[in-house]
Amino acid sequence: MISENIKKIRERMEEACRRCGRNINDVKLLGVTKTHTVETMEEALRAGIEYIGENKIQDAVKKIPELKEPYKEFHFIGHLQSNKINKLMTLRPHLIHSLDKISTARKLNNYCEAKGIKQNILVEINTSGEETKNGILPKDAEEFIGALLENNNLKIKGLMTIGTRTEDKEEIRRCFRQLREIFEDINEKFGLEMDVLSMGMTGDFEIAIEEGSDLVRIGSAIFGKRNV
Ligand SMILES: *Cc1c(COP(=O)(O)O)cnc(C)c1O
Repeated sequence: MISENIKKIRERMEEACRRCGRNINDVKLLGVTKTHTVETMEEALRAGIEYIGENKIQDAVKKIPELKEPYKEFHFIGHLQSNKINKLMTLRPHLIHSLDKISTARKLNNYCEAKGIKQNILVEINTSGEETKNGILPKDAEEFIGALLENNNLKIKGLMTIGTRTEDKEEIRRCFRQLREIFEDINEKFGLEMDVLSMGMTGDFEIAIEEGSDLVRIGSAIFGKRNV
């Protein structure tokens, strides 16, 4: 039951917040609906999910316009390909979590400039160092964000990472702690006011909250196994 699952997740989020003296209202729950049907998404929205995330533009453009239940925000969490920017932008994403290429950022910026809009974005950082993962390496984060700042129609809201796939809780914690440190360094270095740390998924969201996550992205713990 989706509503039961959501209730359990919120309880676990609350417990994690309690352990580290944080307020549950400061941590957003993004329901990751990738591979799930419009009906399932509507069920989650009725059960109190307000923010929804998809990782494939071709799926999102099919499903999001079909939703009959209201949602507060749509987030794009997948890898952004520059040839799909126009399609994605028709969905008016509240936040794009996954910018990691300057050429794509420039194209997105040009699109926004032409439309007279600003787009909230996060920069994806590869804190695990796994080669299969997208994202900017930690050592390159400062230079990348320095270059991004020239794109006046992009609003840099924060950073995102995907934790290492491992049973080793301390290694996962290290990834999240590193993201938080990069976040603080960059805010200071560039005088930015980034306020979103997007980290934590089904397997590791409690550690992420303890390390300062503002936004957890939860799929399987709400919707069960994905339909691939
Ligand atoms: C699929 C996905 C999630 C959700 O993963 P679960 O482990 O099912 O919670 C979160 N973030 C990103 C970027 C994803 O692609």
